[in-house]
Amino acid sequence: MTESLPRNGMKGSIVLFGPPGAGKGTQAARIVDLTSKPQVSTGDMLRAALSEGSKLGIEAKSFMEAGELVPDEVIIGLISERLKMDDAKNGVLFDGFPRTIAQAEELAKIEEVSLVISIEVPDDSIVRRIVGRRMDPETGEIFHIDFKPAPESISDRLIQRKDDNEETVRSRLNAYHQQTKPLSDWYSKLSEKTNLRVISVDGRGSIDEVAESINLELEVF
Ligand code: AMP
Repeated sequence: MTESLPRNGMKGSIVLFGPPGAGKGTQAARIVDLTSKPQVSTGDMLRAALSEGSKLGIEAKSFMEAGELVPDEVIIGLISERLKMDDAKNGVLFDGFPRTIAQAEELAKIEEVSLVISIEVPDDSIVRRIVGRRMDPETGEIFHIDFKPAPESISDRLIQRKDDNEETVRSRLNAYHQQTKPLSDWYSKLSEKTNLRVISVDGRGSIDEVAESINLELEVF
């Protein structure tokens, strides 16, 4: 049962790991409710910077539009500032970070990660998931034209992320396999010699099924 899990006392930060479109953002919202840790999504932070037109946004724009990773120094700077904020002192839920071994190494110097939740989805499901994704700009809630249709009353205001087109998705998947996937072994190895826990769940089911698998895995510990 989701509500009965006593997750509030968990120390340290949680990393939500998985390919683009695995459902990290959707599951993050639930884990935030369970653990009271704030969600820290580097993708959301970069999109906010982009729409404000800040220096960071201008720096990140071309990488994001090409589906490539923003340079590590930029991301690490962003995260170290974010972790200084008051609400981060009992750990946060990282969504979409770290995405390279260099980012994970820098993170390990400044923050304790106690849990990695890896959501696994094969490439062939990902393109359909991402291309059908829509967001409510007022609440940030994520919908999907087939898997989670939005209520009629808000359907006019939904937006599609600029990088959620098929061509960019292929580049993002490529970046994931080349630069991010190796982190999965990196964290597994780390878990053998530290208190870090790594859990993997099959991300192909419905939103509720994946949430339930995460809860079941968490109960094992
Ligand atoms: P996301 O919303 O997590 O899919 O991120 C959207 C885009 O922002 C990615 O395709 C990258 O261009 C950039 N981005 C987000 N997080 C990171 C990160 N941790 N490292 C490098 N680039 C990132």
